[in-house]
Amino acid sequence: MTTRIAIIGAGPCGLAQLRAFQSAAAQGAEIPELVCYEKQSDWGGMWNYTWRTGLDEHGEPVHGSMYRYLWSNGPKECLEFADYTFDEHFGRPMGSYPPREVLWDYIKGRVEKAGVRKYIQFNTAVRNVTYDEAIGKFNVTVHSYDRDLTSTEQFDYVVVASGHFSTPNVPYFEGFERFAGRVLHAHDFRDALEFKGKDVLVVGASYSAEDIGSQCYKYGARSITSCYRNEPMGYKWPENWEEKPLLQSVSGNTAYFADGSSKHVDAIILCTGYKHHFPFLIEELRLKTDNRLWPLNLYKGIFWEDNPKLIYLGMQDQWYSFNMFDAQAWYARDVILGRIALPDDAHMHAEDLAWRQEEETLENAQQMFEFQGEYIRQLIEATDYPSFNISEVNRTFLEWKHDKYEDIMGYRNKCHRSLMTGTLATPHHTNWLEALDDSLEAYLAETPQAGIKAVG
Ligand SMILES: Cc1cc2nc3c(=O)[nH]c(=O)nc-3n(C[C@H](O)[C@H](O)[C@H](O)COP(=O)(O)OP(=O)(O)OC[C@H]3O[C@@H](n4cnc5c(N)ncnc54)[C@H](O)[C@@H]3O)c2cc1C
Repeated sequence: MTTRIAIIGAGPCGLAQLRAFQSAAAQGAEIPELVCYEKQSDWGGMWNYTWRTGLDEHGEPVHGSMYRYLWSNGPKECLEFADYTFDEHFGRPMGSYPPREVLWDYIKGRVEKAGVRKYIQFNTAVRNVTYDEAIGKFNVTVHSYDRDLTSTEQFDYVVVASGHFSTPNVPYFEGFERFAGRVLHAHDFRDALEFKGKDVLVVGASYSAEDIGSQCYKYGARSITSCYRNEPMGYKWPENWEEKPLLQSVSGNTAYFADGSSKHVDAIILCTGYKHHFPFLIEELRLKTDNRLWPLNLYKGIFWEDNPKLIYLGMQDQWYSFNMFDAQAWYARDVILGRIALPDDAHMHAEDLAWRQEEETLENAQQMFEFQGEYIRQLIEATDYPSFNISEVNRTFLEWKHDKYEDIMGYRNKCHRSLMTGTLATPHHTNWLEALDDSLEAYLAETPQAGIKAVG
């Protein structure tokens, strides 16, 4: 009987899995039957922007956390697919930090070329996954919105590619119920123009706080205050941006901080992270972890150790993203195709623990991306995914970190060299801070006049 594989989600991870199998098929391999379930009406996961917040058109939690005017927060050269380069897709060099729509176009280009859309059932949410020991198969129950029909099918493998930046982690601060402005989580942030002329408080000191605060600054907020639990972000912020220790309470429009200071704020944006959340998986199959570089109980960061026919993609905290998902998907494919044998349970667990022990010794960003780079290098070495120079990607990450400390509002104007093709990025026609139109059309236009539309 044909081996059947269910893939949950058609974001970058799910698409990497489809592309991995398609590339084996293109070289003559016999591949299993693939069924990818995607609850949204289109592919691309987070990169498929939605204006909706709260519940979607089907009454389900909105998946998307991306917002308007989002530009890549790391160099595109560090996430480039090794089997489908930016040069191949766009046919010309461009800037190193493209906006969301440009990256979405790139993601789509590869899978359109591969012809894998036929494997995806859109508007279909996975509701329940169980494992039947007696027959060694998974029962996957899905809800098709189009037909309003719930059905269950059996699969030999399940690939969880549902992402982990969608279910917000929302802390409470005293006085929130009486705050006179708006309180929202980053998951529900969509358009910085809403905060034009306002005093904005962002709670948190990670990527979301840095980028949402920067968006608000760029689109005309009166002031930005960011507050941290452990350490300030420490960038050279513009004059109207202040970093404070953690928020303690609010009263009316006043926010009180751990150092005893207070400030007037109109809106509070909680950039307090996301939860790994898999409501469709029964307890024995469910990964439970915080957001970190080495979640436990996954052999090679991929295979659920208690049942390696359950595969998780992209569950790590991400320095590397698209090409790490590829490395994992190619490896998972080769295990499923019998090209790579899994070791016994004891070996799998020992290796898992060794990675975790090393992860716990990491002290700074450089060590972290080197750790993740080495992980990816080992995965790629075992498959036919095109190899690329991981140490050069690490070096590019280092330059990016340096650029941010030099100029947090200007690092996106820097250009990096592709580690796949050697092509040097070209400066975008408009500096990031002045580039208010983030559309694909405006970005790809030769000059600002040709593309830029007024915003706001
Ligand atoms: C605000 C923000 C900014 C980011 N910026 C960057 C960046 O600049 N660069 C970068 O490399 N990465 C960035 N990321 C990380 C981003 O999440 C990854 O690049 C990538 O999208 C992860 O891919 P994924 O496939 O794991 O998850 P997702 O992209 O989240 O896709 C998961 C898919 O699974 C579907 N799904 C979920 N549950 C179900 C279900 N039960 N049934 C059916 N389908 C389901 C979802 O609808 C979705 O399409 C950002 C993330 C956020 C939130």
